[in-house]
Amino acid sequence: MNKAPHQMLEGMIIAAYAIGCQTSFIYIRGEFYKEFKMLEMAVSEAYDGNILGQNILGSDYNLDVVIHRGAGAYICGEETGLIESLEGKRGWPRIKPPFPAIEGYLQSPTIVNNVETLSCVPHIITRGASWFKSIGPEKGPGPRLFCISGRVNNPGVFEESMGISLKDLIFDRAGGIPDGKKLKAVFPGGSSSAILTSEEALDVNMDFDELTEKKTMLGSAGVIVMDETVDMVQACLNIARFYAHESCGQCTPCREGTAWLVKMLTRLVNGGGTPKDIDMIFEITDNIGGLIDFSKGSFGKTICPFGEAVAWPVRSFVEKFKDEFLAYLPQEKVVA
Ligand code: SF4
Repeated sequence: MNKAPHQMLEGMIIAAYAIGCQTSFIYIRGEFYKEFKMLEMAVSEAYDGNILGQNILGSDYNLDVVIHRGAGAYICGEETGLIESLEGKRGWPRIKPPFPAIEGYLQSPTIVNNVETLSCVPHIITRGASWFKSIGPEKGPGPRLFCISGRVNNPGVFEESMGISLKDLIFDRAGGIPDGKKLKAVFPGGSSSAILTSEEALDVNMDFDELTEKKTMLGSAGVIVMDETVDMVQACLNIARFYAHESCGQCTPCREGTAWLVKMLTRLVNGGGTPKDIDMIFEITDNIGGLIDFSKGSFGKTICPFGEAVAWPVRSFVEKFKDEFLAYLPQEKVVA
């Protein structure tokens, strides 16, 4: 959106033409003001060049693009929450089915895609599907934007083939860990993915199947790197706080469960935890996100996948770094 807004716009126009739709929306976070202005210019240029509007390029096809600025709610990244927000309502995800392709914006069939997907479309049309499929692994091909943040020397967004090793992303593209510190853990696909320990992270490629085998996911491809100085209990609390704040509040397990997690983790950090808290954290995450069996998919108990987005990372912190959670318990309460 910053550097090549026409690319996404072209993808949108092709997609809209393919499904015969005459109104498209760009839903953008309100805080992304610069990107909004860039897109506004690109849309205006497209109208001037008759690539948007009535009788596009002399055809009988009409298409309007409307840019809608959201108010910054995380949940409006969920497609039905986004549609509700677009309709002027609270960004509350809808129960599916019906899926948006059947009943979406104003009860009309609606296709929702993200910037990265739409930006690939013009290149696939120009160079062909076999070109696209030749990039990366056979079962999940294509380029991907990996956003690497956290404890690395050179954070940023890197366009790479799917299937690149996580080790190369961290130690080559992002320049490794500052100050000679050791890698401790990594979120491979944003904060809603289960974390990987350093051993797991150094032995995985950024491929859908490989990450599923490691019981996590590629998600947004937002790689968050933690080094040996990171306190995993504090990091877990930070994640829990974020999700408690962003829960839309419709479902009891998500609304209450995220608040409970924050309260319990805060109590633990402040020295008031009990050994039962560890089991209780597992119980709460199970009740929010369903019992997590990666071989059978997820069995969420909430309207939208936000429930799993909280349960998976929190649970993975406790499972993989249990010693650090136990170390926060007042010593007389620790049962060996
Ligand atoms: S899971 Fe959470 S965010 Fe999603 S609809 Fe339910 S309360 Fe809202």
